[in-house]
Amino acid sequence: MEHDYDLLVIGAGSGGVRAARVAAGHGARVAIIEEYRVGGTCVIRGCVPKKLYVFASRFSDMFDLAPSFGWTVDANFDWPTLVANKEKEITRLEGAYVSGLEGTGAEVIRDRAEITGPNTLRLVNADRELSARYILVATGGHPFVPDIPGRELGITSDEAFDLETLPNSILIEGGGYVAVEFATIFAGLGVDTTIVYRGDCILRGFDEDLREGLDAGLERRGIRRIYQTNVTALRKQDDKVCASFSDGVDAPFDVVMFATGRRPNVRGLGLDKAGVKLATNGVVEVDAYSKTNVPSIYAVGDVTGRVALTPVAIREGQAFAETVFNDNPTAVDHSLIGTAVFAEPESAAIGLTEAEAATHGDIDVYIAKFRPMMNTLSTRSERMLMKLITEADGGKVLGLHIQGAGAAEMVQLAAIPMGMQANKADFDRAIAMHPTAAEELVTFKAPTHIYRDGVKQD
Ligand code: FAD
Repeated sequence: MEHDYDLLVIGAGSGGVRAARVAAGHGARVAIIEEYRVGGTCVIRGCVPKKLYVFASRFSDMFDLAPSFGWTVDANFDWPTLVANKEKEITRLEGAYVSGLEGTGAEVIRDRAEITGPNTLRLVNADRELSARYILVATGGHPFVPDIPGRELGITSDEAFDLETLPNSILIEGGGYVAVEFATIFAGLGVDTTIVYRGDCILRGFDEDLREGLDAGLERRGIRRIYQTNVTALRKQDDKVCASFSDGVDAPFDVVMFATGRRPNVRGLGLDKAGVKLATNGVVEVDAYSKTNVPSIYAVGDVTGRVALTPVAIREGQAFAETVFNDNPTAVDHSLIGTAVFAEPESAAIGLTEAEAATHGDIDVYIAKFRPMMNTLSTRSERMLMKLITEADGGKVLGLHIQGAGAAEMVQLAAIPMGMQANKADFDRAIAMHPTAAEELVTFKAPTHIYRDGVKQD
């Protein structure tokens, strides 16, 4: 049967756009359908605007340090200017994405798509049915908001970027990287900021040293953290939102933001009509080639619940297009993925945490904690952390954790030797560049501590 297209992509975010471009480049007839803005979460309300706001918030730290370098700064911040300039930039990027797609011959359709069968979908607004040899589900996710009374009075990261005015106070519920990054953004812009989290410390799953260091960094920046507590209700109180906490306390805030996780965009998508299977946690189940149980339907990115990061969605989109449209079966290796938290201090990691590595055999742990040079003329005592975890036998590098300025850039580069199975001797072979923070990574002498048979020895 002749179909309208070779490929219909639902969702023009990181994964969908890459898949559409590469498939069209291989000669496929492609349309990509987007119900909101081309670029998806990353470009419109994720990584890009977030990093721009992180840059904005970091000036306050720099202004604090400036006098020790002889500067006098009389600084004022204007929120509407930041919001407007951010909007200009993401609109520019959105345009670049559209021309990139159209340049490869993919058609961009602005509508909502709902699947009606293994090879068909309906455009909701145009009320038109389209068919294709393959359908790619790349619909991403949305913020999860707990089901509590008054939940509609809170916002999520989707709205946080475009608040009309900068609040005087904000409560952020959550302990993941989105909660922590927004807390440092708002605190850096002068907002009285509180985090409330049901766990015992932020950033569950990260190395304990990074978690503790970041917790201390938040404290130093005046961010209140309330642990083992959650918000049970919200209500309006004059022009504020009053939050009730599980420990019985009530407190008013200008804004309450939920950063309590994300859920896949599968609702009303018609996956059931095509018989596509979901996993028990609601994500679309796929094999190593991103194929669902229906041979004509694939899925990539956050909707598949593998690793919810832009470069991963892009890699999955690329691999899908290679597999299906270039006769080159390609699976994505999800085993060694670097990740960054653009909070203050910036934190980034790749590979195993110390706790994980200690259960995998004998390991050596090298730690350097030092005052970065930038702080040495001031009274600021904040330290930088470099941590390298290696196998005791042979020295293979298992994990790398960095906290401090430039952490994400350093981990991105270290991901290359780690992907090549580098060991400590490979790191040591590099001659240090001085004065840098990263030179610590190639000048470690003796381990700070070791684990033998799972037991820590100093
Ligand atoms: P998305 O980019 O979410 O795209 C899905 C698209 O599908 C959306 O545009 C949506 O409108 C559209 N859509 C959904 N349903 C339909 C439908 N039925 N019809 C038509 N269109 C539909 N990742 C990083 O790597 N680094 C970061 O620093 C980072 N920061 C982040 C900060 C925040 C605040 C958030 C929320 C996320 C961040 N992420 C970051 C994660 C990253 O944004 C996602 O992993 C990535 O965007 C996933 O890409 P995707 O293609 O799966 O989905």
